[in-house]
Amino acid sequence: MKTDIYSMLPEELEEYFLSLGEPKFRAKQVFPRLNIGSLIEELTMLSKPLRARLREEALDSLPRVERKLVSKIDGTVKYLFRLHDGSCIESVLMKYKHGNSLCISSQVGCYMGCRFCASTIGGKVRDLLPSELLGQVAVAARDSGERVSNIVMMGIGEPLDNFDNVVKFLKLVNHPDGINIGYRHISLSTCGVVPGIYKLAEVDLPITLSISLHAATDEQRSAIMPVNKKWNISELLTACVDYYKKTGRRISFEYTLISGKNDTQSDASELATLLTSAFRGTGAPLHVNLIRVNEVEETGFKRGSAESVNAFAAALEARGVVATVRRRLGSDVNAACGQLRRQSMNNDLK
Ligand code: SAH
Repeated sequence: MKTDIYSMLPEELEEYFLSLGEPKFRAKQVFPRLNIGSLIEELTMLSKPLRARLREEALDSLPRVERKLVSKIDGTVKYLFRLHDGSCIESVLMKYKHGNSLCISSQVGCYMGCRFCASTIGGKVRDLLPSELLGQVAVAARDSGERVSNIVMMGIGEPLDNFDNVVKFLKLVNHPDGINIGYRHISLSTCGVVPGIYKLAEVDLPITLSISLHAATDEQRSAIMPVNKKWNISELLTACVDYYKKTGRRISFEYTLISGKNDTQSDASELATLLTSAFRGTGAPLHVNLIRVNEVEETGFKRGSAESVNAFAAALEARGVVATVRRRLGSDVNAACGQLRRQSMNNDLK
């Protein structure tokens, strides 16, 4: 078994270097470099024999750029990364006026089975290591020459189904001696793994939590999101209220509009009532982020018109719920979740 040194915090690296008979201060020398994605051979502050030893013993878990697509429309960069075991994942670098956001994957594939989503079609292959989560940020920044100022965990996989590695990653990426991205600049999105939401409230890192709600009734939600059969809407919203009360951090709700499934005026009114009554008396600001579904060949779900999403937003706003419509970036580079990985898997099969 190789040692995953890229997943180590400085104090763990100290132990590791001591175990190699090296002084502790090697950790201080090396951590900032590993954290920003330097290769072992680039650690020139170490002697050649020590680097050779690390190449033998340490896991090279840095993602490698397998493909890179740059949008001609808005400069969005879509990365297909290959991992040390040959698996592929995706990250997307999006450029906004307020800075660059990187959308990262949390697992290879996904176990959750949402019916509209391309990432879950082949199931879950494995969890990503903390180093592979961090490596997406480090390698994307290094490759593009851009600073990553925000991270959204909205790529392939369910972050709360990989809880411990995700929390370790958050501590790594936030470390002052490394990439040092503030928790308030990090969002984590979940399909509704309720025990994970309670655990995240306990860990109490001031990140932003997003909930993929996508329906206002259990009947509708269970039909598109199997996770709802395990933890229903009422259990989910109870966990959200608990999270808000414990952390004081507002929660953002994601709602993907699917034509003819969940996008009518009465769906909007039901959604507004659901959220306002769940959070009544807490003082929590309510925010819904609307996304028109990205069409995925295998799922058959259809994207509605821009008018339908605006009408949905207006119906929420009229009932006191702030609604934003997600701008679509990188439409010419297949930037929607999981689509590039599927394409590459299909090509591998051919
Ligand atoms: N597993 C996590 C994070 C990954 S998905 C979660 O479910 O939240 C990130 C977001 O993209 C989720 O809100 C998800 O429901 C949404 N999504 C997935 N497939 C989509 C599609 N085809 N069109 C629009 N949104 C999609």
